[in-house]
Amino acid sequence: MCIFCNIVDGKIPNQTVAQNEDFLAFNDISPLAKIHILIIPKKHISSFNEVSPQTMANMTTFIQEIVEKLDIKDNGYRLITNIGKQGGQEVEHLHFHLLAGEQLGKII
Ligand code: 5GP
Ligand code: ZN
Repeated sequence: MCIFCNIVDGKIPNQTVAQNEDFLAFNDISPLAKIHILIIPKKHISSFNEVSPQTMANMTTFIQEIVEKLDIKDNGYRLITNIGKQGGQEVEHLHFHLLAGEQLGKII
């Protein structure tokens, strides 16, 4: 079982930011910004390559709710999903990094 599935199952502790039946948001263990949250589907999906448009639509709504809850909409934030080896993906369970809370350096 993958590390994020173990987090969903409560076998590895996490600092939960928000959750619903289908998605979980929790603090990254090695934050790269003042706010660094990982957003995942509770069901195992390996990467963006495998996600359905319907799940992605529901995940979008969940992410937008977190943005509202954290009140970061106006100041701005960054969403990243790494995909595969050359994309730098280390955990093979779809996740979006939500980075915020300070001025982020340009990466692209
Ligand atoms: P990736 O490199 O796959 O895009 O991102 C994986 C992220 O998962 C990294 O930012 C890493 O810090 C985070 N991470 C890895 N293991 C754990 C863990 O056990 N708990 C939490 N909260 N984050 C983790
Ligand atoms: Zn998994």
